[in-house]
Amino acid sequence: MELKLKLYNLKLRHVFRISRGEESIAPIIIVELHHDGIVGYGEAAPSMRYDENENTVINFLKKINVSKFDSPFEVDLILNYVNNIDSGNSSAKCGIDLAIHDWIGKKLKIPISNYFGFDRSILVTSSFTIGIDSEEMLVQKINEAEEYPLLKIKLGTADDKKLIKTIRKITDKPFCVDANEAWQDKNYALEQIKFLEDQNIIFVEQPMPENQIDDTKWLREKVNLPLIADENVKTLIDIPKIANAFDGINIKLMKCTGIREAMRMIHTSQALNLKIMMGCMIESSVAISAGAQLLPMLNYADLDGNVLITNDPFSGIKNEHGNLTISDFPGLGVEPNEKYFATTYL
Ligand SMILES: [Mg+2]
Repeated sequence: MELKLKLYNLKLRHVFRISRGEESIAPIIIVELHHDGIVGYGEAAPSMRYDENENTVINFLKKINVSKFDSPFEVDLILNYVNNIDSGNSSAKCGIDLAIHDWIGKKLKIPISNYFGFDRSILVTSSFTIGIDSEEMLVQKINEAEEYPLLKIKLGTADDKKLIKTIRKITDKPFCVDANEAWQDKNYALEQIKFLEDQNIIFVEQPMPENQIDDTKWLREKVNLPLIADENVKTLIDIPKIANAFDGINIKLMKCTGIREAMRMIHTSQALNLKIMMGCMIESSVAISAGAQLLPMLNYADLDGNVLITNDPFSGIKNEHGNLTISDFPGLGVEPNEKYFATTYL
């Protein structure tokens, strides 16, 4: 077994702004796992929120020696070894996890959703994310997103109510709200959510900072909209700690280290009666297709990272009006294109 890496800069259609910053280019690292004449593809899309960037990912991945394992079928042995190299580095670990699962699906000639035996007949619609912007740009973006029936709106500025009122003048579509930890005062958070309750909102994601779990619990008892944990839940061990402060969790492959951990989180959430959402970072079709393989297990999906970019180096999942179609190709169902082949190995 051998790993090969490529660094690739995803270009965003629009500058993407949330409550803690903005970006126009998002670097990713594509992981290739070569074994037995098959190449499995994985992706690491690092986030500064979780102390990662392209250099930390590359440094971590270069420490991994997969040649000591016999086959990618040794999933637990390999991923436990990778986990024990260092803490954190979740997107780098995800890159390996996805490459292993892609390889296994290709070897077995089945999509990963079939490998897990999912019922693929009912798939939730994915939301389309609108970042924080000026009123003028917001109107433009919402018009551009006309084909998507479900939006996710980023909040967390001083003008949140004004922003919602602007949106409601243009569209009556339902949407989800993500405050990305911005509302630090619980009474202020309560006021914001009470306002949102009359605005055809589906849920509110991470209203308060990660370290204000008691305030979030207080808030949850007073509001009628579901609260979804994002920054508060990275991996499996975080779920029991937040189970009485939120109504659901946002699983992201890049936060949780990949498909193996995501499956554990899904089962644990079901046991605790928590709704399951899957979200994403700015990602290529490799990671978005990987997330989409788990669609049959989700209550909500926000898998739009690949439609927010203009230079996807892969094709895979199809997103038509927010309806994601899982490819029948084996593994993650992705294929590299000429942009990928034109990129050199690290
Ligand atoms: Mg979020």
